Amino acid sequence: MNNPNLIVDLHCHSTISDGLLSPAQLVHHASEKGVNVLALTDHDDIAGLDEARQKASQMNMIFINGVEISVTWQKRTVHIVGLNFEANNQNLKNHLEMIRQGRDDRAKRMSHALGLAGIEQAYEGAMKYAQSGILGRIHFARYIVEKGFAKDIKSVFKKYLTQGKPGYVEHQWASLEDAVGWIRDAGGAAVIAHPGRYDMGNKLYPRLMSDFKVAGGVGIEVVSGSQDPSQSHFFADMADQYDLLASCGSDFHGPGISHREMGRLFQFPNQCQPIWMDWHLPEVKIN
Ligand code: AMP
Ligand code: MN
Ligand code: MN
Ligand code: MN
Repeated sequence: MNNPNLIVDLHCHSTISDGLLSPAQLVHHASEKGVNVLALTDHDDIAGLDEARQKASQMNMIFINGVEISVTWQKRTVHIVGLNFEANNQNLKNHLEMIRQGRDDRAKRMSHALGLAGIEQAYEGAMKYAQSGILGRIHFARYIVEKGFAKDIKSVFKKYLTQGKPGYVEHQWASLEDAVGWIRDAGGAAVIAHPGRYDMGNKLYPRLMSDFKVAGGVGIEVVSGSQDPSQSHFFADMADQYDLLASCGSDFHGPGISHREMGRLFQFPNQCQPIWMDWHLPEVKIN
């Protein structure tokens, strides 16, 4: 069950959303870093799964279908990772398409807002960086750096793209209940992504966990590239308390721009039940 040969990464991004590597390049990179169980989890899109699965099979890796869905919960944006679902589920595909249309609408509003702050043609500029056409804040950030309004991506977010800043626009994503429902309907497992990033405090975290459980969610990223070991322990305890399984993922977006490299994650605290516990993964052989 807890096979020590498994090096698992269940959260990363390709050029289908806001990563720098194509799905095949990303799988190759993961393999070089020793990962042998991998899920590709692009934002609101599953168009990269076929290419990634094919490459993973060439590299003798176990590939898990994945997606990261943006939801609005209590007026906050929360990310839900869907894992191990049926990729040809029409209901899931239709709803992801709707979210992407909403993304495009948001991108136009962001572009307008940035225009008012003196950054012109941002929609067109961001689009140059979005290879598959789905626009995220990172694509805007790259354009803003290109135009010299900030020195790097991190400072663009700080200066322009986070709540209260000139290029930030409110957006209504899917509801938590809907997103978890679509993932379940497609036979998958819903997981709360990078819980440490939400900064919710003592009241809201328990509410999120219980709303998520009621909706049918089953797991939480106890280990994430953006969390340190003390956060892992905090969320491992929360997983215990709410009877949730533990997931782990780097949230890798590309070499040099991610919190943590693939295959270099912290271990789960001992009490955790890995989300892949009942997935019947094939044996992983180590050369
Ligand atoms: P979006 O879904 O378009 O709102 O973009 C969210 C994405 O932006 C996240 O998945 C990260 O890839 C990236 N992001 C968010 N905050 C930051 C930050 N402070 N610095 C760099 N990238 C960030
Ligand atoms: Mn991202
Ligand atoms: Mn995320
Ligand atoms: Mn992510």
